[in-house]
Amino acid sequence: MTPLERALRERIQAEGPISVEAFMEACNAYYYATRDPFGADGDFTTAPEVSQMFGEMIGAALADAWKRAGAPSDAIYAELGPGRGTLAADALRVLRSAGFAGDVHFVETSPVLRQAQGNSVPGARWHDTVEDLPARPLLLVANEFLDALPVRQIVAGIERRVMVAAGGFAFDRDGEIVENSPARDQAISAIATCLAHAGGMALIIDYGHERTAPGETLQAVRGHRFASVLEQAGEQDLTAHVDFEAVARAAREAGAAVTPVFAQGEWLIRLGIEARAQALSRANPERVQEVGSALKRLTSADGMGAHFKVVALHSREWPAPAGFA
Ligand code: SAH
Repeated sequence: MTPLERALRERIQAEGPISVEAFMEACNAYYYATRDPFGADGDFTTAPEVSQMFGEMIGAALADAWKRAGAPSDAIYAELGPGRGTLAADALRVLRSAGFAGDVHFVETSPVLRQAQGNSVPGARWHDTVEDLPARPLLLVANEFLDALPVRQIVAGIERRVMVAAGGFAFDRDGEIVENSPARDQAISAIATCLAHAGGMALIIDYGHERTAPGETLQAVRGHRFASVLEQAGEQDLTAHVDFEAVARAAREAGAAVTPVFAQGEWLIRLGIEARAQALSRANPERVQEVGSALKRLTSADGMGAHFKVVALHSREWPAPAGFA
């Protein structure tokens, strides 16, 4: 039995069954607080860990919008759930060379990952929630952050719960499932409120669907394989697909402008990732193969190119970001 499983069994025995939302929240809080899960030896690999090109294209998109908005000197780089800080380091290299000198603010709860982020980006500041970010023009990025926030599952109008069963946990009901996520709506609403008041833009990148639809998407990944959601509590990554229609709705309601949703591959190609790959390969002939396969993994439909989607939220005073027209 995992340490978290023991704690959750005690909690359920004391309180009664807990919602899927509470279960997912407890599992992910424990999981991220106790490890660096990324890379070949870990549980999963994210786009910034595939190649520096990913963060560089994001840095270029942010730098372009910042310049066209008049290069406000009080703007900050902000990132939600920055993992190892790899994306931030790659994006900031491009932003700094474009003249951006603003502060770096991270929203991160894991002490282990805060440490890694501090090594990648010296001088960063940390916050526990999106609401704690300062009210300044934002150059904000969230890659695979929303998918880790807890979802509710509703079956026939009733919230699905997790109970203790023989040898483990079980769901209290089955049937057609509808998911929603107050935690995501709240995070998006906080970002959009800040954009509406202080200016800036936000890039939200995650796997998910463009339209709200019924269906179960909650999944567990461990050692690069799908696993059972209710097993190994706290020792595997729990995620659910992001409903980009819900993201857009929450952002608009809080006063931000929202771009159309693009597939990650198409968006990266529009931003010029192919030219960046060519330049990297020319400068590093020994890396031609590595750069080529990273480009393919980030952009092709059988890699991360189609499953992952991108949307930008921006202040109405800022121009629409590049790549979405
Ligand atoms: N963006 C990174 C990491 C994605 S994994 C990358 O692309 O590599 C999810 C990240 O979100 C981790 O850094 C995790 O610790 C953080 N995280 C998860 N839930 C969180 C929460 N509720 N509040 C703040 N950070 C959270």
